[in-house]
Amino acid sequence: MNYYNVNNPSEKVSLKSAVLQSISSESGLYMPENIPLLPDSFYEKLSDLSLQEIAYEVSNAMLGEDIRHTALKQIVNESLSFPIPLKKLDENLFVLELFHGPTLAFKDVGARFMAGLFNYFLQNENREVTILVATSGDTGSAVANAFFNRKGIKVVILYPSCKVSELQEKQLTTMGGNITALEVDGNFDDCQRLVKLAFADVEINNHLNLTSANSINFARLFPQSFYYFYAFTQLGNVDKPVVISIPSGNFGNLTAALIAKKMGLPVHQFIAATNINHVVPDYLKSGQYTPQQTHCTISNAMDVGNPSNFPRMLEIYHKLHPAIAADVKGYWYTDEQTRSAMADIQKQYDYQADPHGAIAYAGLKEYGITNDHISIFVETAHPAKFPDEVEKATNKKVQIPPALSKLLVLEKNAVKIPNDYLCFRDQLQQPATDN
Ligand SMILES: *Cc1c(COP(=O)(O)O)cnc(C)c1O
Repeated sequence: MNYYNVNNPSEKVSLKSAVLQSISSESGLYMPENIPLLPDSFYEKLSDLSLQEIAYEVSNAMLGEDIRHTALKQIVNESLSFPIPLKKLDENLFVLELFHGPTLAFKDVGARFMAGLFNYFLQNENREVTILVATSGDTGSAVANAFFNRKGIKVVILYPSCKVSELQEKQLTTMGGNITALEVDGNFDDCQRLVKLAFADVEINNHLNLTSANSINFARLFPQSFYYFYAFTQLGNVDKPVVISIPSGNFGNLTAALIAKKMGLPVHQFIAATNINHVVPDYLKSGQYTPQQTHCTISNAMDVGNPSNFPRMLEIYHKLHPAIAADVKGYWYTDEQTRSAMADIQKQYDYQADPHGAIAYAGLKEYGITNDHISIFVETAHPAKFPDEVEKATNKKVQIPPALSKLLVLEKNAVKIPNDYLCFRDQLQQPATDN
């Protein structure tokens, strides 16, 4: 199957190019030429399948022409090797916990699958690639973890100085080896802008074989569809409509969910829940899309003023606002409302949510948690990533899992750079400091 550039649909590339280049020369995102509908036989047996079996069937339908089946099976088995439980909080209310991967972030799913595909496409090639990743928190560590010590791959992480939590920063800056962390004096949008400038810089691009591990890369975005199918497996046979609320920033997670629906998953309604960076909820209401400056919030992984996957969401609906607005409702919340939502979930259901998951819960509540439908909110980060806010709101200590507590004693190792492309460019050309 071919992948086309959403900015220039006549430009088509193979899966391999879409994955390794990540983004077209004019900064266009790649989308598959068609999104296959899974057969009825798949849905009939869905409630008996494991997560890995689902991931294999779904990815085989999309990628099966372009990758050997045995290799795909191995990639799926290696990348989805942790639980993704759907927990019941009430008769018709569930939480889908995506944070049980090695870095306790839902980004692990996409990053690990993507690392598997990179490995597959690069294994017989004698070239080095440099993966650039701008992160507002969790992406960087998931990518670093997934690509750590992979042959032929260098990872450069850009993160906004003082805008990630201490634990997140430790996760980003303590790996060493083939991973370099750059602490940028700016916000997340500045980090994304520097990455985009590097992609547009032909000389540096050719020299370093740049590629991206942000959700602009289809290989990272697509595997995030698997767990929506798996949520249905865990629900068992339900005869009520299913409503899923997704806390969103760059909208990769939601786009993957929309792809799952296009593949036939019978989701009745999606909710795009954001913090005060609400350009997509605004678009869903008005049909007007106006990118904004980013505002900082306590749900920092969603502080995005111009979500990179928005063009993909539009593509799925052939740019028809009424069609997308029917499938996706948008709601947004202030930090105060986010704190109240954390307190509310704790009080009503004895469940400690992180600020991101709490926003998704608030979206469900606004839509209505009733007995007429099943409500699911997606929890994207472990509450221990945001201990101060969570403890204040819920009046309860968070348990720090050992995978995180052992990082706190490690020394941060990052290179500080100004928010300036030429400085970033110089830094990219430095030889790797193996430490
Ligand atoms: C990345 C992230 C999000 C937003 O996901 P998108 O796919 O960018 O919309 C939400 N919550 C957490 C904890 C994240 O790390």
